[in-house]
Amino acid sequence: MLSVNEVKNPYLGVSGLDSDLSAEEREFQARVRRFALDVMRPTSAQLDKMTAQELIDPSSPLWKYLQSFEELGIAPSVLIQLGPERLKRILPIVFEELGYGDAGLAVAAFISKRAEFAVRANGDPELIKEFGHLRGCWIATYPDRGSDVIDYSGFELAAGSTQSVATLQAKVSSSEIVLTGRSSEWIACAPIAECALIHCPADYGDGPLRPDGGVFGAVLVVPLDLPGVSRGTPSEMIGQRCLPIGSIKFDDVRLPTKYLLHGKEEYHASMFGVLTAAVMSIGAIATGVATAAFERALEYSRERRQGGVPLVRHQLVRWRLYEMWRKVEVSRAMLRRAAAFNFSAEGPHLLASITAKTTAIEAATDVALEAIRIFGANGVGRQYPVEKLLRDIQGCTIQSGEDHTLGLQAANWLLRGYQPSGHGSGDGARA
Ligand SMILES: Cc1cc2nc3c(=O)[nH]c(=O)nc-3n(C[C@H](O)[C@H](O)[C@H](O)COP(=O)(O)OP(=O)(O)OC[C@H]3O[C@@H](n4cnc5c(N)ncnc54)[C@H](O)[C@@H]3O)c2cc1C
Repeated sequence: MLSVNEVKNPYLGVSGLDSDLSAEEREFQARVRRFALDVMRPTSAQLDKMTAQELIDPSSPLWKYLQSFEELGIAPSVLIQLGPERLKRILPIVFEELGYGDAGLAVAAFISKRAEFAVRANGDPELIKEFGHLRGCWIATYPDRGSDVIDYSGFELAAGSTQSVATLQAKVSSSEIVLTGRSSEWIACAPIAECALIHCPADYGDGPLRPDGGVFGAVLVVPLDLPGVSRGTPSEMIGQRCLPIGSIKFDDVRLPTKYLLHGKEEYHASMFGVLTAAVMSIGAIATGVATAAFERALEYSRERRQGGVPLVRHQLVRWRLYEMWRKVEVSRAMLRRAAAFNFSAEGPHLLASITAKTTAIEAATDVALEAIRIFGANGVGRQYPVEKLLRDIQGCTIQSGEDHTLGLQAANWLLRGYQPSGHGSGDGARA
């Protein structure tokens, strides 16, 4: 049992109650924390004030940031070499620390590597040579296909209806692929990408609609300097303003079949895998945002005096700080649990990532809002750091799937996998 010889203050490291981090995990954490404080925070303070167009101007500090990220040595191609046992612990730490620096810059760094990661996983040396060094983006949503993209299985399809076939479609034949249409306005890194990983509806000769009302899909990697490719005006957002975002249009763009990474049969598994990773990452980034909000509120409560004493001397403020801390800890613990499941023999599964992301977003929203209130009127002032955190977290609630949509997906998987006897069937037999 637990016994105590001497009562001391709790030892709380960079990530609170973490007590079992290995030397390697602490090194990753310290390295990314330094990067977050020394590079991300100063860069985001500049970029947050810029317009979406200024953000991508050649003079923008965004470019120097992306270069510094390259030098940090935590690109996905590096991390994947760690293997599942180390990765399941290091990945949430890395994303959390990046989110602690800046949510938008964290997303920019990793999304720009998404296409590279896909071609490396695919393993074709020719594709790796062509795309392995290019800055990418991930196109999966369209003006008429947002939440429907996530609902591949059609869990939420109304009786007798069909999903929208999307404004962007691939026509796949044995000799070529023709890509026509446009993405949604919300493709992270679209304004700066040199290539795209695309999950889109596809017509293999018998139309894009499946008999059950869903759509057939294709997974492509596409260079963005081909004739017929054009970009929309970068989109303005209330938060994550350091993340370049926008749309890409394809006018009958003709592609060789080697760019088809996964066809009709493999599309669902590919989408499921990419989404499972993306949802988990956004949850970890949100946990970093929550940690930043908690720390800012703690610092401020120690400095600001009301009623003749620092705020932190008021019992109610101490309680509110404790509640913030508790939510951050819950969020962090859930993320680690989901990552462990996703890298286990049972995983990966979207249910684990969604459980973690929705927990993290709820916590981060509460904590960021409470941080604003602890700052009082200063909390809504642009010159103080906390209003930005609440703005940034709004994007996290929607990117990689709006949280209610994700929750519905999780509920459907939960009902299929969990049996009251305690033995999950995992076979999709029951709803
Ligand atoms: C910061 C940011 C970054 C993004 N980055 C990317 C990216 O890199 N690549 C990419 O492809 N996309 C990206 N997106 C798009 C994002 O994935 C979509 O916005 C998201 O999936 C929701 O789709 P939607 O906006 O079309 O909302 P809709 O699908 O129109 O949903 C609107 C509302 O209706 C609800 N709803 C929808 N369907 C149902 C249903 N069946 N039952 C009950 N409620 C429902 C939703 O929960 C939501 O509240 C990004 C978005 C943001 C904000």
